[in-house]
Amino acid sequence: MSARDTLVEVRDVSKVFGREPRRFVALEGVNLTIREGDFVGLLGPSGSGKSTLLRIIAGLTPPSSGEVRYRGEPLVGVNPHATIVFQTFALFPWLTVLQNVEVALRARGMPEAERRPRALQLIDLVGLDGFESAYPRELSGGMRQKVGFARAMAVEPELLCLDEPFSALDVLSAEALRGELLELWLGRHIPTQAILMVTHNIEEAVFMADRIVVMDTGPGRIIGEERVGLKHPRHRKAAAFQAQVDRIYALITGETPPPAAVLGTAPGQPGPKVPLPRADLNAVAGLTEEVLEEGGRAELFRLADALSFELDDLLPVVDAMEMLSFGRTERGDLVITPLGETFARASILARKEIVAARALRLPTIRWIYELLQGDEDHRLPYDRFLQRLAADFGEYADEQLDTAISWARFAELFAFDDATGELFIEEPVSVPS
Ligand code: ADP
Ligand code: MG
Repeated sequence: MSARDTLVEVRDVSKVFGREPRRFVALEGVNLTIREGDFVGLLGPSGSGKSTLLRIIAGLTPPSSGEVRYRGEPLVGVNPHATIVFQTFALFPWLTVLQNVEVALRARGMPEAERRPRALQLIDLVGLDGFESAYPRELSGGMRQKVGFARAMAVEPELLCLDEPFSALDVLSAEALRGELLELWLGRHIPTQAILMVTHNIEEAVFMADRIVVMDTGPGRIIGEERVGLKHPRHRKAAAFQAQVDRIYALITGETPPPAAVLGTAPGQPGPKVPLPRADLNAVAGLTEEVLEEGGRAELFRLADALSFELDDLLPVVDAMEMLSFGRTERGDLVITPLGETFARASILARKEIVAARALRLPTIRWIYELLQGDEDHRLPYDRFLQRLAADFGEYADEQLDTAISWARFAELFAFDDATGELFIEEPVSVPS
């Protein structure tokens, strides 16, 4: 690797808000180095101090202890080489798109004669050609965010800091804008030397960044780092991409991926006796959405109330959420995981894919799927599975099998054919290892 100049060095930085008894440690012992050419993704649940770290690096707020160096010099005050793009970029509503970008160029001291052609060029770059004289209110959220990007580019920051820049956008605009940013960056159409992007979306980080730094809460800190070695353009469905998502996921949850011994169960051998909770996945989706709406954490009894569930009926749904790694319980609260958040925000199709990937880690579902895959017609009688499951689950075997089928149907892994009494796979694909 060639020696690349170091831009940012964060050394043992902590950030404390308030004082006793309200003292709150937002960041503790954070170390991070960003070099020229880096595209760093900063990933972590809400409250893990991502925005705070970004603000410290941009010099908008000082650390409580530790230091930040920029190109070797201690950072004092606002970092003139860094620009932050926030989730929703504030534009001047009384200025046109062109004027909004020109303002940033003027602030940089660019002579008037050069401003207009440069602003037009930037507007073109982010794909807003034709909207130069529109006002912000006439634009969609995605287009406004593009103006925000154009304005950030106008500053020509050496370090571009992005704080969840796509999360307020609809799915299509977000994807289009990700593509445009990547093109600007990879094609070296902007003088920016490094990008630091905060996100809570694992796939987004793997799609864009080359290094992913993972943070966690309590106190906010860095818990690990992964290098993304995938070439651009990256494909979300590629096995290598999903494997990378899984590794980051494991880092976040502290869950080591299940050992091959559990996953690669020999055909005909069900995995260990892990019963599936009797829960409908649509209820799991509803609960996950509700927790997200309440800020990612909510008391169980309040959730039961909000969803008009008896607490006893809610618990299997909570178990299912935990089993799929969408949430975890903590002292009577249900806390959403990054995967749960991704699921809650995902389209129906993406939800099926997420559930499919998780469900294949559950021994019973995996076992059924592998048996069906191994069969020539990908069809086997219900009773055959029932008999084998009875050995593990006794009188609850049919309940287990029905739950497995309903989850698998949601994920489009396999289904039950009423007419023949068989389980079948419609489109067998190879199981990711
Ligand atoms: P993230 O961006 O990862 O969601 P933040 O950096 O916004 O996390 O916040 C980390 C923690 O610090 C949160 O618990 C938040 O409530 C707290 N926090 C952030 N800014 C302030 C502030 N100005 N005063 C008090 N607490 C704050
Ligand atoms: Mg934040």
